[in-house]
Amino acid sequence: MRKMIVAGNWKMNTTLPEGEKLVKELVDLLSDYKGEKGIIIAPPFTHLNAVNNLITNTSIHLAAQNCASEESGAYTGEVSAAMIAATGAKYVILGHSERREYFNESGETLLRKTQLTLQNQLNPIFCIGEQLTQRESEQHEATVKKQLEETVFKLPKSDFEKLILAYEPVWAIGTGKVASPEQAQEMHAFIRQLIVEKYDEKTAENMSILYGGSCKPNNATELFSQQDVDGGLIGGASLKAEDFRAIINS
Ligand code: PEP
Repeated sequence: MRKMIVAGNWKMNTTLPEGEKLVKELVDLLSDYKGEKGIIIAPPFTHLNAVNNLITNTSIHLAAQNCASEESGAYTGEVSAAMIAATGAKYVILGHSERREYFNESGETLLRKTQLTLQNQLNPIFCIGEQLTQRESEQHEATVKKQLEETVFKLPKSDFEKLILAYEPVWAIGTGKVASPEQAQEMHAFIRQLIVEKYDEKTAENMSILYGGSCKPNNATELFSQQDVDGGLIGGASLKAEDFRAIINS
């Protein structure tokens, strides 16, 4: 059975002391958490090791926000999948629209990163989603289909089923303009049907597909109650421990 998951993407926010404070608050707030949702936080690379120590024996799991597309070597400034795995992290966010847009990450690069992530026993949280112009010109389904076909649909089923997918309409990320529950459900059902066609019914049924884009405590319950929405990838609201807890409890 697929799992409901709430993952927090901190992006380039918090210094290490600020991040440690936020994690301690979260650990405190979630100390009696009895829910069934998986909880993941993705702080900056520089925090991974320290955060991992703070969340040992809690219900919180650790993700990185990116990884290098090469295994190791002369790639100044990059952080490899093996390095991330050694911090204790179990997940890596890949394909986020900010990385696609500002760092020109292509489908080919993202597939390579996904493969390296999997080779290092890390689970990718793989993001897809259309731009506003693509939605306005009714290209949202075609866009998402293409994003899947040029990346993770090239994986064998045994690898693909280790992924978590995140549908993140770019027009909703950080804008306060959330997709309606109906828009989210429609896209998640569409993505799940693509997985049926590419792999099979069981793989599609078991895949967690998260919604991302201005998900907040006041809209999470309705979004998460949609049949094909299996939780959320949360940006801004994951930086406030109370808000993140409220979303987890939605
Ligand atoms: C994100 O960056 O993945 C995201 C969903 O951001 P926000 O919640 O701030 O829109």
